[in-house]
Parts: sequence; C-alpha cells; structure tokens
Amino acid sequence: MPVASDIEEPSADADAAGEGLPINEVFYSLQGEGILAGVPSVFVRTSGCNLRCWFCDSYHTSWEPTGAWRDVDSIVEEVRSHEQANHVVLTGGEPLIHEESVELLERLAAAGYHTTVETNGTIYRDAPIDLASISPKLASSTPTPDRDPKGDGEWEEKHEQNRIDMGALSRLVDAYETQLKFVVTDETDLPEITDLVARVRSATDATVANDDVLLMPEGMTREQLDGTRGRVAELAMEHGFRYTPRLHVDLWNDAPGT
Ligand code: SF4
Repeated sequence: MPVASDIEEPSADADAAGEGLPINEVFYSLQGEGILAGVPSVFVRTSGCNLRCWFCDSYHTSWEPTGAWRDVDSIVEEVRSHEQANHVVLTGGEPLIHEESVELLERLAAAGYHTTVETNGTIYRDAPIDLASISPKLASSTPTPDRDPKGDGEWEEKHEQNRIDMGALSRLVDAYETQLKFVVTDETDLPEITDLVARVRSATDATVANDDVLLMPEGMTREQLDGTRGRVAELAMEHGFRYTPRLHVDLWNDAPGT
C-alpha cells in the first residue's frame, strides 16, 4: 500500500528523470476498463500527473500525489510475485511523465508480460507498449471553479491548455495498438469526441476504427454510475462506438486496491 510522502510536482515538459519511480500502489486485480476488461492483471500505479481532471479517480496521484520512490528491480519483483498474471497495467497519474517508465516497460517486455499503458495522451515515449490505452481529456474534465476539488482555481487554465496535445496523441496512435477511451459525462461530450476522433484520423497513418473508440461512463461509485451508464451505452450505440464498463466499480464499488 502507498506510503504517504510528498511526490514532487512533475515538470510540464514531463521529463521527471530520477532514480526509480514514484509508486502509489501495486496490486493484483481484474482489468476493469477497455478491450481487456476482465483480464487478471497486475496494476502498477505511478504518482504524479500533468493534468487535474475534477473527476480524477486516482486523486492521490494527481491532486495530492503520494507514494514512495522505488527502484525498477523491486517493482518487477513485486509484479512477478503475482504468478497468475501475464498482463501488467502501467497506470497513474500519468505514467509517461516519468522517463523511468520506459525502463520498467522494457524489463516487463523482456520478462514476457503483455503491457497496457493507461495515459492521457499528452506525452509520447518510445517503449515496448502492447496496448496504449489513451484517454484524451475533454472540456468537461476541466476543474472549473464550481467543481475544483481544492477550490482555489489554480489548475483550470493549465489543465485547459495542456489537456490535448495532438502531436503526442497522433505519435502514440501511430506507434502502438491503441484504444481511445473517453470518460463521458453526458451527450454534450459527443461533438467534441467525434471532432477529436476525426482530427486523430487525419493526423495519423493508423486506422482508427469506430470500435477502437470507447465511451466510458463518468462515475467512481456504483451509485454515480447508475446515473450515467445507461445513457452512455445508448450514445455508444447511436454513434457506433464501443461502450466500456467500469467493471472494478461494478464488482467492488470504490474499494481501494481494485
Ligand atoms: S489525466 Fe488521469 S490521472 Fe491525471 S488528473 Fe486526469 S484522470 Fe487523474
């Protein structure tokens, strides 16, 4: 479990090289989201993010980042201790702000693991990534004054400026097998999603099929998902996109380490 200690704010250019990685938690569970939902996986959650979504479901990696710096050897050793799993999900926070994530991914690939990287799509790294699970952040993610968890308005402008980087996003899509996963609050998000998907398609050589585009209901608890999942499923059908559940919330609600 995480050790409470302050994680330095990563620089905006995301070159936080250092000894090892700031790790918020490592745990074994089922992948809850996306095309690999249901697959037993070890999750390595780094701390620190270059964005601040108001609905962030890993608050202690973004708004109040905590964790312990760990060397790559010890992380790989803990992954290997979960002998049932062949899949590793590198998540955050934003794992690609950390240069050392590349070494971790290289070590995991050499050990034969399938790796998924959960990223907000604003940073490109050259690494052995089997599935880039890219979750571009929509305008509805911006921490406006009425929904800023800290209430000080510090991140509204910075988040809005940095939430989409088409250069990094298109490089990721060109380089890796990709799913584009959007957190959807309601139907007002769809025009922005269809516009962004069109921009990605024109900026890349890769084929982005409609079922590579995933709509995921916003909500961190079963109660919150009860208010969004039905409408988001209907929106997926209307637009020909794929719906993805939040299986871990359906199974374990908001329990930590799931
Ligand atoms: S990009 Fe992801 S980790 Fe960062 S604040 Fe948004 S939801 Fe949280």
